[in-house]
Amino acid sequence: MNQFSYKSGAARIEFGRGNFGRVRDLVLDLSCTRAVVLATEQQGEIAETATKHLGSVAGGSFAGAVMHTPIEVTEGAAAYCDSVQADCLVSVGGGSTTGLGKAISYRTGLPHIVVPTTYAGSEVTPILGQTEQGLKTTINDTKVLPTAVIYDPDLTDTLPLKMSIVSGLNAMAHAAEALYAQNRNPISSMLAVEGLSAMKDGLGQIASDPQSKSGRDSALYGAWLCGTVLGQVGMALHHKICHTLGGSFDMPHAETHAVMLPHTIGYNAQAVPDVLQPIATLFGGEPGPALYEYAKSVGSPVALKDLGFKEEDLDRAASIAASNPYWNPRPIDEAGLRVMLQNAFDGATPPHTPQ
Ligand code: NAD
Repeated sequence: MNQFSYKSGAARIEFGRGNFGRVRDLVLDLSCTRAVVLATEQQGEIAETATKHLGSVAGGSFAGAVMHTPIEVTEGAAAYCDSVQADCLVSVGGGSTTGLGKAISYRTGLPHIVVPTTYAGSEVTPILGQTEQGLKTTINDTKVLPTAVIYDPDLTDTLPLKMSIVSGLNAMAHAAEALYAQNRNPISSMLAVEGLSAMKDGLGQIASDPQSKSGRDSALYGAWLCGTVLGQVGMALHHKICHTLGGSFDMPHAETHAVMLPHTIGYNAQAVPDVLQPIATLFGGEPGPALYEYAKSVGSPVALKDLGFKEEDLDRAASIAASNPYWNPRPIDEAGLRVMLQNAFDGATPPHTPQ
């Protein structure tokens, strides 16, 4: 894939292999001289590489990002940034690290450069989920949007196969729901179709060869587009269910998205087959069953029971997901959700749409 630059109102995007080495230039373009690198403990090595690339504009490093952006971690990291007089943040990692950078930037106003290493897409959304004493709250504010993003597929080459597949399906879920979003527009729909197509292609190649450079390029390009639409339009049933399963039952984020995708899209396909036609065309069949076959073919988990979900919790999950009415293209009914969740629990193919 060719290198390219893209600028939108909020973020500067730099895409291409080797671009991680340009992080110092981006910091200098922001007139900053003390950048703090953020990472998870597991990605300490990559934080060191970032510090090397930054050279004289490196202001320190905090390798303590964890899942769900707990407030106490953010407060500790923000105090560290203050103590080293940081004037800029560089997050290198997946959605958890990006979340920490967003949370600090939101509080302090520090400019934020993200170098994603997964396909979650958080780097291009104005959304920040945080947890305080186990309770999750969400902020949706353009102040959360990072200043610049460096998409360097080299950094995704190390993403383990299983994580690559579920992270990619997590990204696809953003684009799939964007197709029927109430506030969709021609641009968001175009981005969603292109994002789905690039990710489908990318994951297909990665599944047969995890080192495939063109597969990794395509998947990261797809992740950018899928994340972009997540930031542009509203989400519905799929994201609500995954939020419920993650928030109330501590289910793993990307894996849960991957398992639920065929079921939620299958549920909604009955109501909006026309707008989901691009999925039928891309995946070669009715959206639910076709996505299910695709997920299986790239080695994704397909059953909630295999992720550790307990069957006795299905009733409660359906009841929580059906509460607090929210917009969805097909009316939400608890009994229908319960059937859908049972199928997802068992790992069964989503039912065909009644003719
Ligand atoms: P993650 O950031 O939690 O990373 C998972 C693990 O993979 C971590 O241990 C990390 O160190 C490791 N890892 C990441 N990249 C790697 C690489 N290239 N090689 C080897 N190991 C690597 O996972 P995620 O799925 O990217 O992010 C999930 C989080 O992001 C969730 O909390 C979710 O809510 C959030 N999220 C937010 C948004 C948003 O718009 N706000 C969007 C998507 C996801």
